[in-house]
Amino acid sequence: MNKTVGIIGAGTAGLHLGLYLRQQGVAVTVFTDRRPEEYAGMRLLNTVAHHAVTIDREDALGVNHWPSDEEGYFGHHYFIGVQPEPIRFYGDLHQPSRAVDYRIYQPRLMEDFLERGGQIEYREIRGDEVAALSARFDLMVVCTGKGPFGQMFQHDPQHSPFDRPQRALCVGLFKGIRQRPERAVTMYFSPGAGEMIEIPTLTFNGMQNALVIENIIGGDLEVLAKTRYEDDPRAFIELLLTKLRQHYPDCADRIDEGEFDLANGPLDILQGGVTPTVRKSHVFLEGGKLAVSLGDVHAMVDPVLGQGANMASYAALVLGEEIVRQDVYDERFIEHVNQRRQDRVLGATRWTNFMLTNLRLMPAELQQFIGALSQNRAMADEFTDNFNYPERQWDCFASVERMRAWCAARMPAPPSQPLPTPAQSPRQRVAALA
Ligand SMILES: Cc1cc2nc3c(=O)[nH]c(=O)nc-3n(C[C@H](O)[C@H](O)[C@H](O)COP(=O)(O)OP(=O)(O)OC[C@H]3O[C@@H](n4cnc5c(N)ncnc54)[C@H](O)[C@@H]3O)c2cc1C
Repeated sequence: MNKTVGIIGAGTAGLHLGLYLRQQGVAVTVFTDRRPEEYAGMRLLNTVAHHAVTIDREDALGVNHWPSDEEGYFGHHYFIGVQPEPIRFYGDLHQPSRAVDYRIYQPRLMEDFLERGGQIEYREIRGDEVAALSARFDLMVVCTGKGPFGQMFQHDPQHSPFDRPQRALCVGLFKGIRQRPERAVTMYFSPGAGEMIEIPTLTFNGMQNALVIENIIGGDLEVLAKTRYEDDPRAFIELLLTKLRQHYPDCADRIDEGEFDLANGPLDILQGGVTPTVRKSHVFLEGGKLAVSLGDVHAMVDPVLGQGANMASYAALVLGEEIVRQDVYDERFIEHVNQRRQDRVLGATRWTNFMLTNLRLMPAELQQFIGALSQNRAMADEFTDNFNYPERQWDCFASVERMRAWCAARMPAPPSQPLPTPAQSPRQRVAALA
């Protein structure tokens, strides 16, 4: 096959696409501003869990170096912190998910790509270079992540309801949190304050826990995103412990306070925010070549539901298959790509945006949904496994009628609790259902 593709960006989107195209004999050059040996000295990039559907793709690409039955986790615990008694329940994943620090994962996949005849050019590409660069290739793909480079693709207002981050994030890898007997993620909800996702993660310091602390702006926990660890590490850890005891006690109970700290030093923390954004799928460059947006450049979501890299990998494989299948890279080509990737990508985007708003407001229908899951293990399992299939989650959450129908189809009888009165706070309203 004598097709040539240029990919700008060596994240999960660029690497999964590049590895797939090499399997199919396509000539690929990846451009990136980071060398594999630089990753170990970088600040934490994110804390990404790959779901089984993504791990299946890694198997097919021959890059699953971290078998999920050994390094993975097997379900989700859910903790909703309401008074007088928190709601707790558990759901199984049909196949395990797995989280590896991307500072370990990405350089390893770059090596795989090079071993398979992929080319990597190490330099920072400027926006005004892309058209000239495209003369060397049949098609350009842009997957440079969340930086300004992606702005070469038009903003899509229809699918971008927010113009600013919806949570103030404080994310770190921590040692000193005891793993549960059966490895699992825990999703904690503190109505009115935020959410926290605890993820068993393979780090430079072995298996530790990532804490993704999603703080409602203006709420009690926002301070965690604004207090710098470097200024006074002990004070930061004390502050974090205080907030965990107050909002996420099931996590605090498993902490050895003498050992609790960043897993491998001060670079293991990341603070900031993500503005959920969808951009147009493509642009024709000066000279006529097509440039396709992929990964976070195309659709970026808040990490609360762990969807961004999973949907980037999915879209990368769809794009790869269409590059191989088709010979002309024009409007019709991108129509085929979009038709195949959009349900997954927009499903993840809409479901995540829905949850960001509704976990903050806790409307009655979401309270009833949580109440139903907490009483029915089969429903909790299905909801949990559907983290693999965000379009199925959106089938459920796209309207109040759908949420009710999803529950009704799975429950012997509708939940009997009365609707809480609007005068109650989100915390009281969820408590009413426990
Ligand atoms: C705290 C946090 C937790 C997360 N948790 C999850 C999770 O559990 N599950 C999940 O699926 N997703 C998660 N995500 C989202 C996930 O990290 C992203 O969606 C995913 O990494 C995007 O991949 P990408 O390849 O599009 O971009 P990136 O991984 O950002 O890669 C961009 C690449 O482009 C290169 N680059 C950038 N600019 C240039 C330039 N000008 N020239 C050359 N190269 C350039 C970079 O060096 C890099 O190689 C999380 C994100 C955060 C912040």
